[in-house]
Order: sequence, then C-alpha cells, then structure tokens
Amino acid sequence: MIELDQALKILQGVPGDFTVQTVGLEDALGRVLAREILSPIDSPPFDKSAMDGFAVAAGDEREEYRILETVAAGGSPRREVGRGECARIMTGAMLPPGAGRVIRKELVEERDGIVRPLKPEKGDNVIRKGENMKAGRPLLQPKVLFPQDIGILAASGIPRIDVAVPPATGIVSTGPEIRAPGEPLGPGQIYDSNGPQLSSQLSAMHCPSGFFARVDDDRGQLSAAITTALTSCDVVLLTGGVSAGDFDYVPRCLEELGAEILFHGVAVKPGKPTLFARRGNRYVFGLPGNPVSTFVIFEVFVKPFLYRRMGIEWAPRQMRARLAETIKRRDAGRTELVPVRMREGAATPVAFHGSSHLNALAEADGLIQIPKGMTEMTKGTEIDVRPL
Ligand code: AMP
Ligand code: MG
Repeated sequence: MIELDQALKILQGVPGDFTVQTVGLEDALGRVLAREILSPIDSPPFDKSAMDGFAVAAGDEREEYRILETVAAGGSPRREVGRGECARIMTGAMLPPGAGRVIRKELVEERDGIVRPLKPEKGDNVIRKGENMKAGRPLLQPKVLFPQDIGILAASGIPRIDVAVPPATGIVSTGPEIRAPGEPLGPGQIYDSNGPQLSSQLSAMHCPSGFFARVDDDRGQLSAAITTALTSCDVVLLTGGVSAGDFDYVPRCLEELGAEILFHGVAVKPGKPTLFARRGNRYVFGLPGNPVSTFVIFEVFVKPFLYRRMGIEWAPRQMRARLAETIKRRDAGRTELVPVRMREGAATPVAFHGSSHLNALAEADGLIQIPKGMTEMTKGTEIDVRPL
C-alpha cells in the first residue's frame, strides 16, 4: 500500500498527450485551452469615457464650457476639444481629440449649449487605450475555460480557439449483483450507480465516455471487456472487483492482458484498493466498487490525471473554512477524505456511515482531508475544503 501523495506523484509522472481541435467560442466552455493566447488588440482599443458626461481638455478647469457636439458609444467624434470647449459624451464612447477627462453629468448644470460644473470632479473618468490589456501580451494560459474566459476571448475579438481533444474514455462496471437502473432487481442484486455516476463525472469535465460495459465477476467476460475497452479508449475506468475478495479478478486480468500495475492499494479512506495500470500508452484505473469511494477517487485521482493528459496541471479550487464540529477517529492509518456541508464559512461533516452510503453525498458541498496519523480534528480548526 502506498501513500496518497505517492499515488498522486505516480499519476503526475505520466506525461501530457493530446491532439488539438479548433472550436468556436460557443463550444469552448469547459474545454481545456491548448496553448497560450496573446491579445491581438489593445483593450480598450481607444481612449473611452467611463461615464455619461462632458469631455474637456486635461487641466482645463473653468466655470463654463461650450458644447461642441454629442458623441455616442460606437460613434466617432468630429471636433477637436479646445480650451473652454467640451463634447457631450456617453459611457463607452470614444474621447474626442484634445479631450483628457470627463466631468460626470450629475456634477454640472447645462443651459443654452453651455455647461457649468457645480462640484469639483476628482477622477478623469477615462479608460485609456490598452489600459486593460495591451496587444501582444498574454491573454490566457492553458486552462479549463470558464464563462468569464469566453468573455475575455470575445472581448479580444477571438471567435475560435484551439482546445485539447479529450482522451477517449471507457467505463466497465463489474459484479454479478449490479443491474441497470430500470431493470427489475433479483435477490441479492443492486443497481449500478457507479457506471452512470462515472459517466456524468466524465461528461462534467467534457471528457465523455465512448465505451460502456457491465460484466459479471467472470474472468472471460472481464478480459473481453477490458480488451475491447483498451482498443478504443485511452483511459479505462473499471469499478469493483479490485479488492481482495475471491471474485475480485481485475488485478489478475490486467496482468494477464499485459498491463503493468503502477499501484494497487493507497492509504486513503475511502478508496484503499484503488489500482492504476498502464498498457502501452493506455491507462486503466481500477476503482473500488463502493459508490462513495468511486466518486471520491475519481475526484482526487482520475480528474487531475485526465486534465494532465490534456496538458494542464489542474488543482481543485480550495475554500478556507472552519470545522463546525470535532472529528474523532480510532484508525488514523490512512488519509481520510470526508464529505462536508458548507454553511457560512463552517464545514460540517455529512452524516455518513460508510463508503456505500452514497445518499449522504446529496448533502455534500465539498471534501476535507484528515491527514494520516491524526486521530482528532477539533471544532474551529481552519481547514481547506475542496468544492464538489
Ligand atoms: P467490490 O469492490 O466489487 O467488492 O464491491 C464493493 C461494494 O460495492 C459491493 O457492495 C458492491 O455490490 C458494490 N458495487 C460494486 N459495483 C457497484 C456499482 N457499479 N454500483 C453500485 N455499487 C457497486
Ligand atoms: Mg464486485
């Protein structure tokens, strides 16, 4: 059994490997930007007014100004503003030549084409050309694209970008007891929750699974499913059959198929039997059958691994919180990942009675980590929460 950090190191040792495709911004959300993007333009592209008001020459402080013209957003000023003159200007409109600042309309009195400031205007209310971003400067680094990134790209006039093609993934759910939701349950049977759950975890990261099989604990069936999965998938996720039971054939099958087991057994709770193997350039995760373990191990191992294959060092965003109640544990031999509910900066462990208790996750907003060796984490401790 290896430590959580060692397992993560082994996963980080696998190099990125991806091809690139070009997509329009409408298809870019959640995808991984494949390379650095430099800004093609200055932003804003011209000196512009940040307020509705009157544009006057810089340093031209006086009691009244004559209005020359009105400049709307998107329009071009026709007159140069000289001393004693001004242009009525709208938010977002281009500053006329000669103008250096804008007096807000709320601060002036206007009559017969003349404007009189009533109160001093402190700021210049101008956003200078290139103030937000200069042409040629880095705009975005490779990363998972969020809505605001799409906005940044659009603001720079970029309609299409190169993103990483996600690895082809497949899922194999194992166990004679599991049935597809919708089928009747026989004695001793349960529904396959891991298959649909993993499939959605993959979809949520825009890495949809293209292969799915559900097999009994039968070596022939299991070998056949893994063989087929490995012909079409870069990364295969197996669930169940990976621990020490009489019918847990996954490790043996993988070895027979020529895969190299890179780790099997991690000092983490839940998820102790987790396995990771490689055959050539293809990778296999053996995830525990217990649904909570499968869910958590996907988040902690599989997700960063898939992003790494797509060329980025992805790390979950962490929120800082205080523990709402003391956590005690007798067995501190593993790093423990505890689902928590977040309210007003406080994290409460969700009532959780084992790694088959999937329903508890409905309440969970995040995961906290109790280090190996720690038997008690007291109420009020400042902790990092990894949002789910
Ligand atoms: P295993 O790792 O195969 O020993 O399975 C551990 C536990 O998880 C057993 O109670 C299984 O019935 C359950 N389990 C295995 N696969 C699934 C699945 N796909 N969906 C829901 N539960 C599962
Ligand atoms: Mg099983």
